[in-house]
Amino acid sequence: MSRVTEIFGSMVFNDSVMKERLPKETYQALKRTMNEGRHLDPHIAGIVANEMKNWAIEKGATHYTHWFQPMTGVTAEKHDSFISPGADGGVIMEFSGKELIKGEPDASSFPSGGLRATFEARGYTAWDPTSYAFIKDGTLCIPTAFCSYCGEALDKKTPLLRSMQAINKQALRILRLFGRVEVGRVDTTVGPEQEYFLIDRALYEQRKDLLYTRRTLFGARPPKGQELEDHYFGAIRLRVSAFMKELDEELWKLGILAKTKHNEVAPAQHELAPIFSTTNIAADHNQLTMEIMKKVAKRHGLVCIFQEKPFAGVNGSGKHNNWSLSTDTGLNLLEPGESPQDNAQFLLFLSAVIKAVDEYQDLLRVSVASAGNDHRLGANEAPPAIISLFLGDELTAVLKSIETGQPCDTVDRTEMRIGVHVLPSLPKDTTDRNRTSPFAFTGNKFEFRMLGAAASISGPNTVLNTIVAEELGQFADELEKADDFTAALNTLIRRVIREHKRIIFNGNNYSDDWVEEAQRRGLLNLKSTVDALPCFVADKNVDLFARHKVFSREEMVSRYEILLENYQKVLHIEALTMLDMARKDILPAVENYIRDLSDTALSKKTLSPQASCTVEEELVTCLSALCSCVYHKAQELDRALLDAHAVEDTRERAARYHDMVFTLMQELRAAADEMELHTAAKYWPFPTYGDLLFRV
Ligand code: ADP
Ligand code: MG
Repeated sequence: MSRVTEIFGSMVFNDSVMKERLPKETYQALKRTMNEGRHLDPHIAGIVANEMKNWAIEKGATHYTHWFQPMTGVTAEKHDSFISPGADGGVIMEFSGKELIKGEPDASSFPSGGLRATFEARGYTAWDPTSYAFIKDGTLCIPTAFCSYCGEALDKKTPLLRSMQAINKQALRILRLFGRVEVGRVDTTVGPEQEYFLIDRALYEQRKDLLYTRRTLFGARPPKGQELEDHYFGAIRLRVSAFMKELDEELWKLGILAKTKHNEVAPAQHELAPIFSTTNIAADHNQLTMEIMKKVAKRHGLVCIFQEKPFAGVNGSGKHNNWSLSTDTGLNLLEPGESPQDNAQFLLFLSAVIKAVDEYQDLLRVSVASAGNDHRLGANEAPPAIISLFLGDELTAVLKSIETGQPCDTVDRTEMRIGVHVLPSLPKDTTDRNRTSPFAFTGNKFEFRMLGAAASISGPNTVLNTIVAEELGQFADELEKADDFTAALNTLIRRVIREHKRIIFNGNNYSDDWVEEAQRRGLLNLKSTVDALPCFVADKNVDLFARHKVFSREEMVSRYEILLENYQKVLHIEALTMLDMARKDILPAVENYIRDLSDTALSKKTLSPQASCTVEEELVTCLSALCSCVYHKAQELDRALLDAHAVEDTRERAARYHDMVFTLMQELRAAADEMELHTAAKYWPFPTYGDLLFRV
């Protein structure tokens, strides 16, 4: 046991290391910077940098890097060694305060959505001192934000940090109204549950679709899928268990609170959940976790796949984003309290979330939109793309009583009034509660379940923080003016419930009835990325982000461009991969089988004119027809791809990819999958679903 406590955080320049190694005044100055978001004094930075370097060298590091999160969705790093020429022809190891605080990578090859012309291609990275530096592969990594030279955000961390400031500001205004003067800061906290697939590396490498796109573009369903529900929480196989053990250790060394691991619903699918932390740190740690998972998998002859829907017919992978608000005094603001006063405060924060989710359904939907996640949301076998909010029957009844002034059935027939009652005890989330809701209250936090497994959690949390900040700000505006605070609070909460209760839905989100019901309620159903993305730059949303200084209009337009472009590029690569596989692998393989069948029939006839050749004949007829279908679908797809690619307007082009290219891809796949079912195993040119899902 002591081993875990020893290795935990051993590769992190964390608080205890800083306290131990830095001069007292330096440590205190740095802490002030971290707590209050101040600028770091260059002199102090120099001392911190030097000590960081000494520590890193003791741990075997030779290089340092500013570790950042450009719009590619993965992390970026450029390594510089500490060496500097010494007097005697040797080298000394150096790392200055300037190098710690600011880096200047050439930014021209990262997506910027037109924000940065190449003549001003330089960007800069700036240390986020609230996220600890760490050592990975002999390199000291410094978590940084990445901006253009004019200060426009080119990454995912900058807006997240800005949104945390926005919600901190507004939440503090509310807390002051409740007389909580002792609170100095409010942070949002996140615990992202990460789902993934583990596939045998040797099999994976035989499939171009997995190699190029990380999802299978072809593949007939195996005889067995997930219908027996025997994989979920099942005993973990030895090879997977060895992977998980090593993974835990690697993550612990980096100070990542890896807590829970288990098998998920689909065969070969698993989950890892950390203990929650402050949002920007949770975002950094989640990126790091995914990176380490890939590396460790490789060492075990496996591949870790985060793609949102790598296999048709079984569950895709998501990333449940558990989100809450907590104060520096240790209070969870989404936890019902024990006094009427605490409950009034809880209900106000709850109302802010309800109103935010209703008014900004579009932004939440956009925040999880991607080509990959389109297969999970609003597709055939997945939850719908409709945003609604689950509160559970008890809390819903309480809200109803507050709204109507009628007694509440579930609470001994008392009428609930703000600031008068202690809330009835609400059951905390247990796994048998509503798992179909995209946005569920789970006792002391909300769980946003629409995120795809591959995405950074920064985008969705930037949206969540900002929309809730907006509502808290509006509430504060109203309540700060009130003469009778309790009366004003009552009025406000009642109004919010009345106007926004349509977003609350406790039933089965996967049912067809809900889709109709949601439409009657006027809720949005943005089925695809192409439907969703334009909402991002709607005036109301541009104003919102500008008001809270999270995004400027230019930054939003650039992000919109990047997302649209990315969508098409992903589809383009997938379509080309399909063409390649269909023409170069599948058709030739099936033609071989057809030839052998025909040869067999011929030899049979030669030997014995009466021999029956029905099997060969029927198979040849069936497969020949399918070959012809696959061939023609491929031709059509090829043309559609050329057409779509040639469209000038980005949005129009994205729509063309969605309507034409995507549809043909599905048709091509259907024909090829049908062919797989009739082709002898030894002819099929790559590993099947059965091999991939059941051979780890
Ligand atoms: P499950 O959803 O599987 O039933 P839990 O609800 O216990 O499991 O926890 C899921 C995740 O929620 C964990 O990562 C946990 O750390 C996180 N979590 C718990 N409390 C909070 C909180 N206050 N803020 C953010 N995340 C939290
Ligand atoms: Mg959960």
